[in-house]
Amino acid sequence: MDKFKIVLKIIAPLFLGLFLIASVSIYSLYLLQQQNIDKKAKEAFETVSLALNQITKKDIDLMHGLLDIIKKDPKMIALYKDGKRDNLYAYLYQSFSEYKSHYNITHFYIHNIDKTNFLRVHDRYIHSDIIKRKTLYNAAEELKMSSGVEFGIYHNLTLRVVIPWFVDGELIGFLEFGREIDSLTPELSKMLSADIVFTIKKELITMKDFEVWRSKSQRNRYYKAMDNFFIIDSTLNDIDTELQKILNTNENFNDTHLINHGKEYHINNRPYLDVNGTEVGKLYVLIDVSDEHTYLVQLIGKITVIVFFLIFLLIVYYARYIKKTENQLNVAYERLHEISITDGLTSLYNKKFYLENAHVQIKRALRNNLYVTFIMIDADNFKNFNDKYGHSEGDEVLKSIAKCMKDVFQRANDYCYRVGGEEFVTIIEHEKYDDGSDIAQKLCENVENLNIAHAYNSTFNKVTVSIGISTVKVDELTNSIDLYNNADKALYLSKENGRNRVTLYENN
Ligand code: GH3
Ligand code: MG
Ligand code: MG
Repeated sequence: MDKFKIVLKIIAPLFLGLFLIASVSIYSLYLLQQQNIDKKAKEAFETVSLALNQITKKDIDLMHGLLDIIKKDPKMIALYKDGKRDNLYAYLYQSFSEYKSHYNITHFYIHNIDKTNFLRVHDRYIHSDIIKRKTLYNAAEELKMSSGVEFGIYHNLTLRVVIPWFVDGELIGFLEFGREIDSLTPELSKMLSADIVFTIKKELITMKDFEVWRSKSQRNRYYKAMDNFFIIDSTLNDIDTELQKILNTNENFNDTHLINHGKEYHINNRPYLDVNGTEVGKLYVLIDVSDEHTYLVQLIGKITVIVFFLIFLLIVYYARYIKKTENQLNVAYERLHEISITDGLTSLYNKKFYLENAHVQIKRALRNNLYVTFIMIDADNFKNFNDKYGHSEGDEVLKSIAKCMKDVFQRANDYCYRVGGEEFVTIIEHEKYDDGSDIAQKLCENVENLNIAHAYNSTFNKVTVSIGISTVKVDELTNSIDLYNNADKALYLSKENGRNRVTLYENN
């Protein structure tokens, strides 16, 4: 009988299913969160222009406001009108220092109407040169405030605000404030919570001018960093080759991934234009997503451990439960099988099992090269017994005969079957030819010795059985039906010759 084996059949697909569902879910969660991180970076990039404008506008407004106040200073007007450069410098120097320390104003010019410079408060010894800057040109043309980013004489990039200087309705010159764009990077970085790298085209500034500019500031400036650009400011202390490569290309991009010194960034850039609308360089905004990414990886790791631990528990629970059920099923099936092959009255094997098992027994004997014997047993005059003592008494007798059979045929390969009402068959295998007759003889005597009264069993007056046997060496055997028929014939002879005896079928 094949046993039920359902544990693997249920657990394997269950495990596979749960594994796939969990993996897909966790991976989707990862992708979704990754997308969220990307989205946050993109949203931050969308605010860059706004932040840049805001910072610039704030600076312009501040410088404009200050210029509007100082242009009315009578002492300053008087000193300028009198052409007293040194006195004017001495007078303005203190206020300029304050503007510098409070508002980062790095340049303060007073220009004549003819656009020559009268005084650089920030650099008093250079003056009287013609100023060719667009900001001054615009202010002179339109006679109103003009602003924009422009290089200075050392090619330092400066945000400039120029106003026409009117006194009592008369234009007497121009006032200009400038703020080096150095403060742009930290302010933008703070505003966006991002790192900023600011590059300028090398073609616009010589190494010598760059050195002068660099020496006047404490910024991280690198001239040799790249082929076509130099870095005028960076909130990143170290710039890897991968980032350098990106910085050196002149492409504009919206969002790229990048690893710099082990940190993961989203990077976005935009051209930086001067007052003429010319691209002088680029502003790179780098959003560090390493922490978010590390957190995400850790979170996914934890979720994975928890989910797979739960799956493991579930699988163990189901495996144990199904194993238990499988055992119960196998026990029940074995019991059912036993019932299905057992005769209810005598507990011997039934005819159904005889039909299944006879040839199995013969095959086994064949393998062992033994004799096989069919023993056919039939209760004598049993109809009369029933008639005289009743059917239930008859049943008891059949049980007693069965018990005798079990006692006599005890070896592992002895099988006793009830094949009809009061007819039984036993198939045994043995080594010597005579063993079959001997043991059958023993059974015949044992039944007689039960001494069960049977008034209508001719001369014996007790219950007896007649036995027919057929013994062959298995290699001579044609089939089990022949053996059965031969035993039946021998049984017939036993009946004929007076019952309560054993007859061996002879082949001639
Ligand atoms: P013989 O010696 O020639 O075998 O005579 P017999 O009367 O035993 O043979 P027969 O075939 O005429 O009758 C068999 C009887 O066995 C008929 C029936 O009453 C009885 N019998 C068959 N099955 C059962 C059973 O399950 N219980 C009982 N009590 N009797 C049974
Ligand atoms: Mg009979
Ligand atoms: Mg009979």
